[in-house]
Amino acid sequence: MPESAAVDASPNELALPSSIPDELLSACVHCGFCVPVCPTWDILREENDSPRGRLYLMRAEADGRVDPAGAFSVHLGRCLGCRACESACPAGVPYGHLLEQARARIPTRPVALRRQRWFLSALTNPAIAKFTYAVARLVRSVGVARALGRVLPGKTGQALRLLAATRPAFGHGPAAAAVTEVVDGARGTDGDVATYALLSGCVMDGLFAHVHEATRRTLAAIGLREVEATEQVCCGALHAHAGLLDEAREQARHNIEAFERTDCDWIIVDSAGCGAGLRDYPAWFADEPEWRERADALALRVRDVTEILAAELGRAGQPHVASGDSPILEGRVGYDAPCHLHHGQGVQQEPLDVLRALPGLDVETLPSSDRCCGGAGMYNLEHPDLAARVRAPKLAEVQRGGFDWIATGNPGCIMYLGAGLVRSGDQTPVVHPVELVDRAWS
Ligand code: SF4
Ligand code: SF4
Repeated sequence: MPESAAVDASPNELALPSSIPDELLSACVHCGFCVPVCPTWDILREENDSPRGRLYLMRAEADGRVDPAGAFSVHLGRCLGCRACESACPAGVPYGHLLEQARARIPTRPVALRRQRWFLSALTNPAIAKFTYAVARLVRSVGVARALGRVLPGKTGQALRLLAATRPAFGHGPAAAAVTEVVDGARGTDGDVATYALLSGCVMDGLFAHVHEATRRTLAAIGLREVEATEQVCCGALHAHAGLLDEAREQARHNIEAFERTDCDWIIVDSAGCGAGLRDYPAWFADEPEWRERADALALRVRDVTEILAAELGRAGQPHVASGDSPILEGRVGYDAPCHLHHGQGVQQEPLDVLRALPGLDVETLPSSDRCCGGAGMYNLEHPDLAARVRAPKLAEVQRGGFDWIATGNPGCIMYLGAGLVRSGDQTPVVHPVELVDRAWS
């Protein structure tokens, strides 16, 4: 939520959702274990910009002691939503869910709300987004984004750098036919060859089709069969993070129905933020038992692509491909964990296991791998200065490390880290781990 969007409007003018459930807020025992892991507290050294301070504000707002348009909106707005505090919390406080509900209570001027909805529609509404992404791909393909992004200041320059960072590092991937033999097919829940449906997503579909292609080829190489989930839509996470919970639930209902029709073993996701969104669907329907049950069933089938690959490589080893004995890729990889994979889904070891199994690659985790890069969805556009301060130590690690590739499994992280490298003229590609797997197996 941009600070400028929060106003001192009377809540009576605006339809606010009901209060945050007391049992969720009261789980916090104020121990403070979460404080030192919080990037915004680390930079600002202000209790209200720590998880514990933000939880105090949520409690005060629920009790009617603070105005949701005042300090509450400022400090909740500065939160990255990285959920590092959840990993550190011994009491199991569901901070991510509380944050979404708290943001839904920040009153926003109608004009700011319209602007926010319009912006999200441009990225997520298929009828509008296809034009947004077509223009973006055209700008990207002619090299304008990188060239102008390096020199232009402000939001225009930042948007161009983010776009430049989406350019495929490997061009178009190898043809699926390059895989000459697949491992014994992965088994589904009924003992047959496992089937999966891929979450298309919005930004992933528009700007990261090359990652989807790499995902499909690697899953084919380990013997999985794809079934198409037609009529699926954006996962809703961008709306939920912005506090637009009704819109997020509408998208979730649509996806639950679309994936129920596929009857596949797994719903595979190659975007950490979207995977965390799908796995959060049950919490979004806490007050709707029928949808909650269906959301639970969907969440049980969700896997990040690296979870499937790690499990299958552990079971069957690398697929036999037409590469001979010498590795196709050789070099050093710096791995940076996306917050919504590491903290949001608890998927921590699998991406590393998959990358380390590839011949020819020397894989290290960045020292700050478990800390947010500052991208955080739309956050880096709403809070550019604070986001850049969060990112700075990680960029320094990348530049000191002399890596051949940086690998991270979330589009927002690829874009924001990549944008920082574009700005500094550093050519190190930032890629999804599955792109390296795809290349190594080609
Ligand atoms: S670690 Fe958990 S219980 Fe402790 S202050 Fe933070 S949120 Fe509250
Ligand atoms: S989600 Fe991240 S930025 Fe927000 S309070 Fe938790 S650790 Fe801090």
